Amino acid sequence: LIAFLLYLFYLVAPIGQLVQSFTQLQNGLAAITRIREIEELPGEPTVAALRADGPPVGVTFEDVVFRYGDDRPIVHDGVSFEVRAGGLSALVGPSGAGKSTVFALLERFYSPQSGNITMSGRDIRDWDLAELRAAVGYVEQDAPVLDGTLRENLTFAAPDATEAEVRHSLARTKLDDLVARLPEGLETQVGHRGVLLSGGERQRVAIARALLRRPRLLLLDEATSQLDAVNELRLREVIAEVATDTTVLVIAHRLSTVTGADRIIVMESGRVRATGTHAELLADDDLYRELATTQFLATATP
Ligand code: ADP
Ligand code: MG
Repeated sequence: LIAFLLYLFYLVAPIGQLVQSFTQLQNGLAAITRIREIEELPGEPTVAALRADGPPVGVTFEDVVFRYGDDRPIVHDGVSFEVRAGGLSALVGPSGAGKSTVFALLERFYSPQSGNITMSGRDIRDWDLAELRAAVGYVEQDAPVLDGTLRENLTFAAPDATEAEVRHSLARTKLDDLVARLPEGLETQVGHRGVLLSGGERQRVAIARALLRRPRLLLLDEATSQLDAVNELRLREVIAEVATDTTVLVIAHRLSTVTGADRIIVMESGRVRATGTHAELLADDDLYRELATTQFLATATP
């Protein structure tokens, strides 16, 4: 999302009063403030609309065909699957299979050439874009921690969040002990110019940030880097907890995530090849078995 907003900034910056020096743009949270101004231009979702509230949504893809441009290769060659409301579903498959593109289409960054995508039973083309973007929380792979305080990192997309909501999101993502350890708690500067967070902490900060917007669907592109056993266990617990009241769809790279999933969707070359639980797929699907033995990042449980 941040990368996309920065991209929007580059598009809009030259045409308005929003031109800022590049140095300032690089200044982490300052850039986000500019982005908020852009979002409040007519026709763009407002910050207030960025927060959702409502029951978890189910998702369907029906024979989705998609390419990034008319002269580009087919990326989704008839993708169909269903994710029921609530619970944890995992997308797995080799690099280039089209997993991240599923997320881009769900966020309506692009539209498929044919086929249908529904959320909560309604075609996503019929959703108000601001409402759709509010309903979907997206935690990108290796999500960045911005220069600024931990509190700013959590609330920049939910500036009206209450103290109780901030505390709740920290508890849900098991970051309380991090806050207790930081010299100035939530007001501690983090990122390049402050306290550096571990990969596992950064990922959970990104999840906490997304949760503060109360998404009805959380899209999580798992980090591919190795987590230590403690952080891996925490991530697994956090995902399971969030999945109790939100639909969670995760692009999974970890054995501990897929074994906890209610349903796994195996993608290969722009198609869904198989679906099932970890045990079913281990028994039935050669590609899944290969992924499970050679590609998933496994950490010894503590
Ligand atoms: P996965 O997440 O499974 O690795 P992706 O959905 O990222 O797969 O990519 C599927 C294919 O689409 C790849 O061939 C990739 O190069 C291409 N692709 C991904 N994003 C873009 C984009 N923004 N523009 C053009 N091609 C893209
Ligand atoms: Mg990807």
